[in-house]
Amino acid sequence: MTQNQVITETDSKQKDLMDNFLRVIKQNELSHSYLFSGEEGVGKLSLALFITMRMFCQNLTSESMPCGECDECRRITDLQHPDVIVIKPDGLSIKVDQIRYLKSEFSKSGLEGNQKFFIICDAEKMTTGAANSLLKFIEEPMGNVVSFLLTTNRNLILPTIISRTQVVELNSLSRSDFEAELAKLSVTPSQYKLLSRLTNRISTVQEWQEDEWLAHSISAVSHWFNLIVDNDITAFAAIKTNVMSLASDNSKKQVIINMLLSIFEDVLDAKFTSEHNFNFPKQADSIKKLANHVNKSQLIQILEELLSCNKLMAINVSYKNILEATTLKIMRILNS
Ligand SMILES: [Zn+2]
Repeated sequence: MTQNQVITETDSKQKDLMDNFLRVIKQNELSHSYLFSGEEGVGKLSLALFITMRMFCQNLTSESMPCGECDECRRITDLQHPDVIVIKPDGLSIKVDQIRYLKSEFSKSGLEGNQKFFIICDAEKMTTGAANSLLKFIEEPMGNVVSFLLTTNRNLILPTIISRTQVVELNSLSRSDFEAELAKLSVTPSQYKLLSRLTNRISTVQEWQEDEWLAHSISAVSHWFNLIVDNDITAFAAIKTNVMSLASDNSKKQVIINMLLSIFEDVLDAKFTSEHNFNFPKQADSIKKLANHVNKSQLIQILEELLSCNKLMAINVSYKNILEATTLKIMRILNS
């Protein structure tokens, strides 16, 4: 990230917190330890770097913002600043050696009395050893140290660490920022609406992109729906042949049910609104076709059937049975 990206991202995604921290710094009230909690992409690292730049910048603007151009600002975002250390997971976890390195770096230069900052990205990935080592450091920091722990999942952070930090919840992404993050993951724009219907977490979308699970699921649900629209009984068999292999765990099973719901919500949308914004825009033709010959009460019965799938899942009815039975019920309702 460049200096200007840090400033722009913080200003656009976390303006309130940015202003708040500028005020806190002005009043000399910066705490020693913060935990920034928020979803992927909300700008946790940018905010931490921004605050750090604000503390070191040699050329503050008239609004007390870091300039983004001086040597200090540049070295911070280049991760080359001697008094600022950023730690990221080494592989899957943050290991105790990384925390030891941090301590030794800070003890070397601690005598100079400079203010020092460290930022731990994905802090929930600290091993127990690393977390305990960090805990001692936060309790008795050497000299003037400010720490930022960043996490997407504060439930995985040791309570003893949370109790020693000031927890700051970052705002979730606005619709347009969420879509900008989706674009970075090469999600196609036709999938934006569906994805924002299904999740607000970029990290979840990232998981769904693995092995093209998302694309395969959208395609399986679309195929199933088109068979139903054509009153083709092979919709029943499509559950076993196309859908079941995608339902690899409980959360994905849930998502597929939500996709089935979403495409019937599109039918509702097609029937009762004039400006359509479909979850499944590529199926617009069959969605409108069904909307033309289904009535309101049929549609409501279908949505109720799909909603009850979640309840059946909760009482451990087999997933395949649930979807097959629901398919038959939907076809029966449409033919009634
Ligand atoms: Zn500067």
